[in-house]
Amino acid sequence: MQRRLETISSRHLLRHLAPLAHGAAPWIERDGHKLLNLSSNNYLGLADHPHMQEAAIAAIRAYGCGTGASRLITGTTPLHIQTEQRLAAFKKSERALLFTSGYHANMGVISSFVGHGDVVLSDELNHASIIDGCRLSGAERRIYPHNNTAALAQQLEELARAGHTGTRLVVTDSVFSMDGDLAPLAEIAALCRKYDALLVVDEAHATGCLGPGGRGLVAQLGLETEITASISTLSKAFGTIGAFVACDSLVQEFLLNVARPFIFTTALPPADLAASLAALDILEADPELPTRLQHKAAFFRAGLQKLGFQTMASETQIVPLLIGDTTRTLAMAERLRAYGVYAVAIRPPTVPEGATRLRFSIMASHTEDDLAFALEGIARAGRELDMID
Ligand code: PMP
Repeated sequence: MQRRLETISSRHLLRHLAPLAHGAAPWIERDGHKLLNLSSNNYLGLADHPHMQEAAIAAIRAYGCGTGASRLITGTTPLHIQTEQRLAAFKKSERALLFTSGYHANMGVISSFVGHGDVVLSDELNHASIIDGCRLSGAERRIYPHNNTAALAQQLEELARAGHTGTRLVVTDSVFSMDGDLAPLAEIAALCRKYDALLVVDEAHATGCLGPGGRGLVAQLGLETEITASISTLSKAFGTIGAFVACDSLVQEFLLNVARPFIFTTALPPADLAASLAALDILEADPELPTRLQHKAAFFRAGLQKLGFQTMASETQIVPLLIGDTTRTLAMAERLRAYGVYAVAIRPPTVPEGATRLRFSIMASHTEDDLAFALEGIARAGRELDMID
C-alpha cells in the first residue's frame, strides 16, 4: 500500500479529504477564507432549501431515521412508493425504481440487462459507475470513441454480420460529467433501433438541468419511448442522495427481482425521500429554474472563451478549463484559491492522461456578480501562469 501511494504521489495524483461545513453552498469557508464554490454538483442550489429541510425533519418525526431493511423485506415505506410515482410522472415514464445511489443504479441496471455471452457497448468517457457496471456484468465490453456514432455503428454492424445472438446493450451518459458535452442521443437511439440493442442513458447531470421543466436530455429530444432505462441521481440537481431508474413496468419488475445492488442493500431513509419530494415540488413550481441555470453557465463559459481558455465541447452547467499538464493545473487551482475561487483539479484516472483540467460547475444559486468575480480571478491567475495573454 505504501509503495503504491508513493507512486501515486510521485505523479501528483495523491488525493486528500478536505472537510467543509457547507460544501454545497455557493460560498464556502476554508482555513478562515471565503471561497466561491465552483465544484459542487448542487446545480439548482437546493441542498439547503428550507422547504426540503422542513420536509426531512417532518419525515424523521413520522417514520424515524432509518428503514431497517432492504426494500423487499420491510424497508418499503409509503414514502418510497409515493416518491417512485412522483418521479415516474416527472419523467413521463410508466414506472420509476429508486436505488441508493447513482453508482448502485448503474451497477444494478447494466449487470441485470447483460451477462456472459452478451455485449455492452460503452462510450469511452462514461462515468466510472457505468464502467464498473459493465465489468460486473461479465458481458463482453466494447468501448467506442467518445460520441463517435460511426464507430458505434461499425461495431453493431460487425456483431450483426457475425450473427451475434446474445443481448446487445448500448450505454451512455447524456451529459458527460467531466466535459459537460452532450451525447448524440437521437443518432444512438436510431442505431439501437436498427441493430436491436437495448439503450441505457445516464442522466445524472441532465435531470433537473436540461429539457422541459428539467426532465433531462432524453425528454428534450423526445426520445422517452426509445430508451430502455434512464438513470438519474437525486444527489446533484435534487440536492439530496439516491437515484432512480425511469422505465416501463416490465423493466421495473425485472430490476427489482434481479438487480443485486437494489435487492441487497437497505432502503433509502425517509428524510431523504421527503427532501427529494420537496425538491420535486420546488422544480415543478418553478420549471424555468433549469433555464436560468443554463443562462448563467452560458455567461460563464463565454467569459472563459473570451479570455482565450479552452472549454472543450461544454454546452451545459459543467464547464471544463482544459490545461493538460497536471502540475500546471494544480498550480492554477492553488492560485485561484488565493483569489477566492474554489475549483478542483480533475486528474487521471478520472480523465484521460494529458487531459487534466479544472472542472467548474455552475449552480442556480450563483449570482452574475459571483461569476464575474470568478472570471476576474481566473483571468488574473491565467495571466500570471502564462496560460493566456
Ligand atoms: N453517473 C454519473 C454520470 C455521475 O457523474 C455520477 C456521480 N458523480 C454517478 C452516476 C453516481 O451518482 P451518485 O453520486 O448518486 O452515486
